[in-house]
Amino acid sequence: MRKITIVGAGQAGLQLAIGLVDAGYDVTVVSNRTPEQIREGKVMSSQCMFGGALARERAVGLDLWSDECPSVEGISFTVADNGNQAFSWASRLDLPAQSVDQRVKMPAWLKEFEARGGTLVLQDAGIGDLEGFAVDSDLVILAAGKGEIAKMFERDATRSVFDRPQRALALTYVNGMVPREEHSAVAFNMIPGVGEYFAFPALTTSGPCEIMVMEGIPGGPMDCWADVTTPEEHLAKSKWVVETFVPWEAERCADITLTDDNGILAGRFPPTVRKPIGVLPSGANILGLADVVVLNDPLTGQGSNNASKCAASYLASILEHGGRPFDAEFMTDTFERYWDYAQYVASWTNALLSPPPEHVLKLLGAAATEPRIARRFANGFDDPRDFYHWFMTPEAAAQYLTDVAN
Ligand SMILES: Cc1cc2nc3c(=O)[nH]c(=O)nc-3n(C[C@H](O)[C@H](O)[C@H](O)COP(=O)(O)OP(=O)(O)OC[C@H]3O[C@@H](n4cnc5c(N)ncnc54)[C@H](O)[C@@H]3O)c2cc1C
Repeated sequence: MRKITIVGAGQAGLQLAIGLVDAGYDVTVVSNRTPEQIREGKVMSSQCMFGGALARERAVGLDLWSDECPSVEGISFTVADNGNQAFSWASRLDLPAQSVDQRVKMPAWLKEFEARGGTLVLQDAGIGDLEGFAVDSDLVILAAGKGEIAKMFERDATRSVFDRPQRALALTYVNGMVPREEHSAVAFNMIPGVGEYFAFPALTTSGPCEIMVMEGIPGGPMDCWADVTTPEEHLAKSKWVVETFVPWEAERCADITLTDDNGILAGRFPPTVRKPIGVLPSGANILGLADVVVLNDPLTGQGSNNASKCAASYLASILEHGGRPFDAEFMTDTFERYWDYAQYVASWTNALLSPPPEHVLKLLGAAATEPRIARRFANGFDDPRDFYHWFMTPEAAAQYLTDVAN
């Protein structure tokens, strides 16, 4: 039986670990937090997952909340212009999305992993521990997300566009937000020169809620969290952001309250692509998974979806590899297979972090009067490779607008 050790019990690490256990591998997951610490800790993400990622979870019986979790049925998109709406539209998703708080999901998946035959080790793994796992295991995978240990993987300067954070991020989990009329949605608002605000329904530890996500351009007026020290101040600042920059969303937020004191987060990080192989001091190689190797800004809500995609792609590579050694060539090939997808997500996300070019504003504006464009934009979130056919270059956009008009 081949032994695989996965360090990090998040979306990618646990999904891959459970897939490998189901396939008959001897799998150990190393987590630096107990299930209770995860459940009782701070929120880590807004984790909205689209149809493809949800289908992968359903296929392996990990969709434990599909009935309980409110659906995100569409995307609405508004561009702000000095406190007014320059344009606004909404479109349904072909397959609804869902967001299950990782504080709910990961403790349950850890239980599921052990029930299916996996071994859980509770340890904040350092380099010395990785050396030990490398001796004991046929393959060691680092799935530690944004954890410090991920920095042992070298940044890939040719594939990383930015070397500093592009947004000041904040999350606020709330109850009492008035639902959108017509259908639920990721209500996305772009505030040129300031940042972005979006909100959508989710399931948290106390039941259904809404998550507010605020992305402020560093140094701008929405980069406003430095002096916030208490949960009450965080909620008040979130309401201020909405009232100041997207007042049409303020009515929905008039009576919001925090789901819990840990339903808040503020921080920033540089979007980074890293080399797929981490070399330990002994010379042993370990393989990086998901956010360890491709870390995107949450602006386009792709991280958990990518983690799911990466776990599924690595699972296929490992199973297809059979009994052969997990050497550097295997690790490189395994990552490149995932990068064939992830590079499109990364470059689309990075493009949206920059001021929108003329052709993008034209397309987004045209979506307000042409539902086909709105529908295509909304559904692209499930597989951003589609944007390359019509959204990413002025030429493709012009051709698409001509095609739609004829
Ligand atoms: C503000 C914000 C909003 C987001 N919104 C969305 C969204 O709407 N949609 C979406 O798809 N994605 C979103 N994301 C991104 C998404 O949450 C991540 O990309 C995804 O969780 C990555 O999964 P992962 O398994 O790679 O890492 P993680 O989920 O981060 O899991 C890593 C795990 O490893 C553990 N760990 C770390 N170091 C060690 C160590 N040394 N030893 C043992 N364990 C360790 C951590 O405790 C953690 O449990 C958001 C992220 C942020 C910050």
